[in-house]
Amino acid sequence: MDHITDKLMQYFGHRKFKSELQEQAIRAITRGVHDVYVSMPTGSGKSLCFQLPAMLQDNKLAIVFSPLLALIKDQIDHLTKLKITAESINSKMSVKDKERVLNDLHSMKPNTKFLYITPEQAATGTFKSLIDHLVKYKKVSYIVVDEAHCVSEWGHDFRPDYLKLGELREKYKSIPWVALTATASADVAKDILSNLKLLQPVAKYKTPSFRKNLFYDVVYQNCIEDEIGHLMEFLKNSLKEDENVKQKDKNAAIVYCRTREQTEDLANMLTKRGLQSLAYHGGLKTSDRIAVQEAWSSGVCPCVCATLSFGMGVDKATVRAVAHWGVSQNVAAYYQESGRAGRDGKPAFCRIYYCRSERNAVDFLLKNEIGRAKTPEQKQRCKNAYKSYEIMVKYCEDVRCRHLTFAEYFGEERPACGGRCDVCRDGRSVRRALEQHSRRALS
Ligand code: ADP
Ligand code: MG
Ligand code: ZN
Repeated sequence: MDHITDKLMQYFGHRKFKSELQEQAIRAITRGVHDVYVSMPTGSGKSLCFQLPAMLQDNKLAIVFSPLLALIKDQIDHLTKLKITAESINSKMSVKDKERVLNDLHSMKPNTKFLYITPEQAATGTFKSLIDHLVKYKKVSYIVVDEAHCVSEWGHDFRPDYLKLGELREKYKSIPWVALTATASADVAKDILSNLKLLQPVAKYKTPSFRKNLFYDVVYQNCIEDEIGHLMEFLKNSLKEDENVKQKDKNAAIVYCRTREQTEDLANMLTKRGLQSLAYHGGLKTSDRIAVQEAWSSGVCPCVCATLSFGMGVDKATVRAVAHWGVSQNVAAYYQESGRAGRDGKPAFCRIYYCRSERNAVDFLLKNEIGRAKTPEQKQRCKNAYKSYEIMVKYCEDVRCRHLTFAEYFGEERPACGGRCDVCRDGRSVRRALEQHSRRALS
């Protein structure tokens, strides 16, 4: 055990790092030579990447920018439980509380180890003079930007105030910065580095998007006779397993649909044909939604036909199949939705049932939104959304490795697919199916 793993146990009670990548990021941040960019999926332990290094620096504190007071509260509560002093300065605090925190920060040796700040707060005079003081007296270990995708207009949570953080990077050159985000597209990653003005060369620690246990394919709906039977067979084959598996660990499937009616129709038809399925959508009563999710999570009902609202906070490890009844609106969404399959690392199957009339419907919707946009910014965002959608259509209509589309989107090298998609396994039949699809779509 070295010093760092020692402290990992002492302060955080973890015996080992959650991943090799987490360890590498932590060691790089501890060295403090370069700015560091960390991109790992939600739940992989990004907080520890800056929290542990900050604990190794005596008499210094880390300033952490975080977009929401709710997130800040969670982090502070977590650290407080670990007996680590974490504070915030924000508009919701009492004057007395604020004074208490500021007094500590201005003392010779502050107790505070983490100071959490929203980007709005960062723009205030109070904060500006505070950070001047802290830097001047060498009390700052790191400046951390959590949820760094908020700095990008390509992200869905763009926060204009995040842009101003770049000015701080330029002003306080001596302190190493750390930016963290969940899996980000190449565009978002580029924005993070440039908008935050991170000092080059930035050390990057990024989970590759390629998941080799997931098999991806596309089926053209107009090329099959019995759509429901086809879907049924796909699900049944994917779900096959030993009889003796405990109920809660039983294999499960999700069928994503675009409309509420579709979820009901498909769930009914699948159930009639012998695969017990429930519908899940925003129109259900909360209690019904909870009941459906519970039946599925606990292994009582193997299949849910759902709109996109299903999946937030769902972390069932044994999802063997995710089918999309119609195409997702963009690559990021599809990657995330299909990525709910195979969390246990065992083989799982992701399939789109592609249908051109469905595609035309989405096309129409998105173009409509561009037309309705009021401000130039809105228009740009709608146009970006349309561009992202076009990539998804190409995913379905090109004969190219499916995993490659993801890799390109996340700015990575070509992954070693090795037959883990229909195109790489048997490109010829994909080409044939596509030709048939196009002929039928025209006729
Ligand atoms: P992220 O920010 O990447 O979504 P968090 O930092 O919130 O993830 O961490 C997710 C969970 O993982 C937390 O409960 C955290 O305590 C736990 N965790 C982090 N690192 C380790 C580790 N080395 N060993 C065990 N659990 C860990
Ligand atoms: Mg986090
Ligand atoms: Zn492939």
